[in-house]
Formats: sequence, structure tokens, C-alpha cells
Amino acid sequence: MSVLVYTESEQGKFKKNAYEVASYASAVAQMMGTTVTAIAFNSTENESLGEYGVSKVINVKDDALATFNAGSYASSIAEAVKSTEAKVIILSSSTDTKYLAPLLSAKLSAGYAPNVVQAPDSTSPFTVKRTVFSNKGFAHTQIDTDIKIVGVSNNAFGAHENKTAISVDEIDATTDATTNDTKSLEIDKVVGKATIADADIVVSAGRGMKGPENWGMIEELADVLGAATACSKPVSDLGWRPHGEHVGQTGKPVASNLYIAIGISGAIQHLAGVSASKTKVVINNDPEAPFFKAADYGIVGDAFEVVPQLIEKLKAFKAQNG
Ligand SMILES: Cc1cc2nc3c(=O)[nH]c(=O)nc-3n(C[C@H](O)[C@H](O)[C@H](O)COP(=O)(O)OP(=O)(O)OC[C@H]3O[C@@H](n4cnc5c(N)ncnc54)[C@H](O)[C@@H]3O)c2cc1C
Repeated sequence: MSVLVYTESEQGKFKKNAYEVASYASAVAQMMGTTVTAIAFNSTENESLGEYGVSKVINVKDDALATFNAGSYASSIAEAVKSTEAKVIILSSSTDTKYLAPLLSAKLSAGYAPNVVQAPDSTSPFTVKRTVFSNKGFAHTQIDTDIKIVGVSNNAFGAHENKTAISVDEIDATTDATTNDTKSLEIDKVVGKATIADADIVVSAGRGMKGPENWGMIEELADVLGAATACSKPVSDLGWRPHGEHVGQTGKPVASNLYIAIGISGAIQHLAGVSASKTKVVINNDPEAPFFKAADYGIVGDAFEVVPQLIEKLKAFKAQNG
């Protein structure tokens, strides 16, 4: 019996959250007195998981699974659960795993707790702390099923080095996994930019920017900071920015270290998706904007004056400090 962790990758490379979930799995395994096995798909970086407490990787190599497919991945992970006799499955709380985990839960009759923010309170009974009501509260949830699935929030537990001897098994996907009846026909991917899920810093802007023609300074600020760009819902609904940038309750969740909100009022549905960010900086010309109540730092001012000055100062700082 071991703890099984699903480590997400893209084009062979592990995503940032892979090392976080591996660290989380390692903490759970220590509490349970067992080891961690990871399952990956077409990864080329398997050994790196040994730095985070994983002692074995099952790498499913199959071109048919080159891109994420919830049904196919669930079949392979369920197989790995059987072969390792794992009782606890750890995965991230990414957009992909929110499709994957319920399928896995149904296949294995396993209880599933998403949005978990810290190591289990206890492993017997198995109790975890998770955010609920769009990050407005916490719940301590007990999972009583024989097999348990834990979805760890991005950026909540962190990656912790714990060097461990590691072995890698390369296996083919099961027929069940490759004959799934849904497949991605085309993937449109933004290249060369930090993604909202992986970025340490997210620069986000709202309707206060007045129109899409004013996004140059938002992109420039993001470039200077090495940040991902995001936006409020109306901005993507209006077609000012792509839908992939919409963050909030009905968009992507953000759990960055720094979230800069420019010309965004701070409606409850927006805050629901970004409140897990560690430090929030708000730039708004209305001192009564609700976002200021949730902000760590606020600048009351016109974005069209503040943002260019911020860019200038950051460039000067970078030039001085390398
Ligand atoms: C079911 C449901 C789900 C929703 N889901 C989401 C969601 O996931 N994400 C989301 O974002 N919204 C969501 N919304 C919409 C949400 O309620 C708000 O309407 C939306 O977040 C407002 O977007 P905004 O702050 O960009 O625009 P506004 O509310 O129009 O705010 C613009 C802000 O810009 C400021 N401003 C104006 N000019 C300047 C300037 N020159 N300089 C600086 N500041 C300036 C204003 O003071 C104001 O605070 C949802 C709504 C519903 C009903």
C-alpha cells in the first residue's frame, strides 16, 4: 500500500503544481508510515520527483494520451490504484483535475475532497481542511470511504524538498484508456507567456480600462514583472480579452503570490476566484471600491496615470538591480 499522486505535465514537462502535490503526498505518506508512488503521462522528467519525496513513478507512455483526456487518464490512474493498492490518491485542484477526480471517484467508489489547503488534520479518521463557499470559509472534512481522493489547492501547501531514491516504470496505457470516446481535436494554446495557473504574479484588469485598446500598458506591466495577464468577466464577455483570461467564480481560480487588480471593482464573484492569492494590490480611482476591503495594498488613483509610473519605476529598479 502506498500513497498515489497524479503529477500533471505538458509536453513532457511537469507543471509547477506537480512538485506541490508530490510534497503533499510525501507528507501524507509520512503520517501513514508508507511511501509515495506517482503516476505521470508521457513525462520526460520523472526522476525530478525524487527531490520531493516520491520513491516510484509509473510513467504511462502512449501517444494517444499526449494531451489531457479525463476519461482516459482516469482509467490509467484507476489501474495504478489497483496495482499499488493505494488507499489515498492526491492530485491538484486544477481545471483538468476537476474533470478527472469525479470520474475517478465514481470508478473507485472513493470519497473526494477538493480545494484542500493543508496537510491532513489526521489520517485516521482521514480529515482534511478545505476551502468552501467560494473561499469564504473553511471546512474540516472527514473522508470515510476505503479509497480517498484529495485535491490540493494550487500554491497552498508549497513544494518541499525531501530527497528520496526513485525508480521509474515505463508502461503502456491500458486498452480501456486509449479507447475512450472523447478526444481533443484541436488545442489553441497561448505560447511564450506565463499561464494564470502557474504564474507567481498575475496582473489583472477590469472594465475601468475603458476598452481593449488600453491593454498595452497592462501587458507591459505584466512583461516587466514576468506575470500572467487576467481580466474580469465583463471584459472577456465584451470581447476585449480572450475568455481564457477571465478569472473569478465562473472563470479560472487564481492562487498566485501577487495579484494586481487594476480598474476592477471587487464584486463578490470576482473575489471568490482570486482570494486565495497571497498578496493583493488594488489600483482603483474610487476609494469606495469594494476591492480595497480585500486588498493588502491599495492605490487610489487613475490607472492611466498610476500604471505607466509603476512600469517606469519597475524598469528603473530592474536596471539598477540586474
Ligand atoms: C453568476 C455570476 C457570476 C459571475 N462571475 C464572475 C467572475 O467569475 N469573475 C468576474 O470578474 N465577475 C463575475 N461576475 C460579474 C461581477 O458581478 C461584476 O459585474 C464584475 O466582476 C465587474 O467587473 P469589473 O470590476 O471589471 O467592472 P465594474 O464593476 O464596472 O468596475 C470597474 C471598476 O473600475 C474602476 N475604474 C474606472 N475607471 C478607472 C480608472 N481610470 N482608473 C482606475 N480605476 C477605474 C471603477 O471605480 C470600478 O471600481 C459574475 C456575476 C454573476 C451574476
